[in-house]
Amino acid sequence: VSYGFQEVAPEEKTRRVGSVFARVAARYDLMNDLMSGGLHRLWKDDFVRAVNPRGGERILDMAGGTGDIAFRMAKRGAQVTVADINPAMLDVGKERAAKRGIEGLDWSEQNAEVLSFESAGFDGYTIAFGIRNVTDIPAALREAYRVLKFGGRFFCLEFSRCEWPVFADVYDAYSMNVVPKVGKVVARDEEAYQYLVESIRRFPDMSAFRSMIAEAGFAQTTARPILGGVVAMHSGWKI
Ligand code: SAM
Repeated sequence: VSYGFQEVAPEEKTRRVGSVFARVAARYDLMNDLMSGGLHRLWKDDFVRAVNPRGGERILDMAGGTGDIAFRMAKRGAQVTVADINPAMLDVGKERAAKRGIEGLDWSEQNAEVLSFESAGFDGYTIAFGIRNVTDIPAALREAYRVLKFGGRFFCLEFSRCEWPVFADVYDAYSMNVVPKVGKVVARDEEAYQYLVESIRRFPDMSAFRSMIAEAGFAQTTARPILGGVVAMHSGWKI
């Protein structure tokens, strides 16, 4: 089944992705726990450990959604701007921050491809499970490079390709068959979760994505698989 995202014009893809996240915003956090068996929490902990934000550092958490990465970084004393194209996701994030008493975050509606921020203003740029939803990924990487200071670092956490033979087949069957059904029952939106699975399958593998990061200007790029590559962490320096 193709949800048809690649066959449409770029503006149409951006609009459809917008509607997917607007539809699932309220159930987004619950769905993450259900679909990953809670593992996404460990991946995010691991990611923020790698980012290692220090007190006072300015970090842009792009496609920050409901705040999972931003909250972890704010707890370490970073000054975090949570940016996302979707106001419904940001609204859920603001509510969660208020409930948890997390203060000092900036919330900003932004398209990762064309940021309104000045150049060279951030010490770090993070994007977790966001970049595969962006229509023009090279443009988003160039913008990440632009808004970082020299000496700043780019970090990305994203689904990738599992390279463990048997596990890869099990994971494939699970994502194709189970995830859309759970989406149907819990988020009442099978189509949205069909899209999410498809977008994971279409995303470039680790080495191709690493090359894209270098192409945007980043140096000393790294790629690290988690769970055999179900998820991967990438980074690069602006130097
Ligand atoms: N980073 C959060 C996390 O790890 O839980 C949210 C990830 S969520 C799977 C993906 C987010 O990307 C959504 O909130 C969506 O609105 C956002 N997004 C999609 N396309 C975008 C774009 N072009 N610019 C900015 N955000 C975008």
